Amino acid sequence: MQFEPIFEKTERPIVIAGPCSAESEDQVLSTAKALAEQNIDLYRAGIWKPRTRPNSFEGVGVVGLKWLRRVKEETGLKVTTEVAKAAHVYETLKYGIDVLWIGARTTVSPFAVQEIADALEGTDTPVLIKNPINPDLKLWMGAIERIYKAGISKVGVIHRGFSAIDDKTYRNTPMWQIAIELMQAFPGLTFICDNSHICGRRDILQPVAQTAMDLNFHGLMTEVHPDPDNAWSDAKQQITPPVFSELIDSLVLREASSKDQEFLHKIEDLRSQIDLIDNEMLDLMGKRMKIADDIGMYKKINNISILQPSRWSEILATASAKGSALGLSEEFVAQILKAIHQESINHQEEVMSRAELEK
Ligand code: PEP
Ligand code: MN
Repeated sequence: MQFEPIFEKTERPIVIAGPCSAESEDQVLSTAKALAEQNIDLYRAGIWKPRTRPNSFEGVGVVGLKWLRRVKEETGLKVTTEVAKAAHVYETLKYGIDVLWIGARTTVSPFAVQEIADALEGTDTPVLIKNPINPDLKLWMGAIERIYKAGISKVGVIHRGFSAIDDKTYRNTPMWQIAIELMQAFPGLTFICDNSHICGRRDILQPVAQTAMDLNFHGLMTEVHPDPDNAWSDAKQQITPPVFSELIDSLVLREASSKDQEFLHKIEDLRSQIDLIDNEMLDLMGKRMKIADDIGMYKKINNISILQPSRWSEILATASAKGSALGLSEEFVAQILKAIHQESINHQEEVMSRAELEK
């Protein structure tokens, strides 16, 4: 696939900002004017809102497209809104919406994405595709492929985090590794980080935006509202235009690579140290799982179940204390241990069922 950039400018960050939802003509226009002064690259406002439960504000609908058209006329800004079905696409095309975005709840549905792709066929409207709500890289790739196959080459993606059951920090857990894998698989895509939907709160928008810049994302999508506390949707995560301006100014942009020989040697040296450690960790895991196999066999002989909850909580508590002394977060330690524990259970099950078959 040969993607083309959505934005002409090459310096980072590309800035997409605007309210979660268009609420009134005045709110849409006044926010746009404030953001136009900050020279943002694209103005966002949702007019069809995919809400988790009914009976909450579901967007102003088509009338919002007129407001966005006025934004274009009066500020010169380009505008974008979310589309979730073919009818949305046709309406946005009528009103000259510059860029469309596909929301996280739509990316999960190949039928919906295909319907949007079919409606776009024959146009060259740029499309930004949010990650699906579940961490499934292939589903995200599939949506990109469907849009590209409809003849759209200006395609971008938005990392807006993934649904999590027990994340106390983020509304949607950022899974940077998935975004990085996508960057590597599909070079040429425009990469945007939606820090608002990742965070779900204002106080950590800046560090998440900074992380995105450090990982070479091209830009940000951030929700900006003139009166965030009284916003009709996503009130907790929106910020005012002046606060947004501070956020953008605070970002430190580092070069993606350097030509400085000394720097390159040093980095190479540090990377090879990391590679060594990663290798050792894998060797250790291999050894650990062999022991799990022995345990499985031993439990089988003695007719004892695989899972012993008391032992598991003991391991978790000890490791969490040790991890925190080493500067590792509780969440990270728990994640690693859970993954190791699951693999261990799989090994034990495998050993037990094999023993059963051989009886
Ligand atoms: C939005 O951008 O307002 C939105 C609904 O986002 P998401 O699809 O990421 O939930
Ligand atoms: Mn929102």
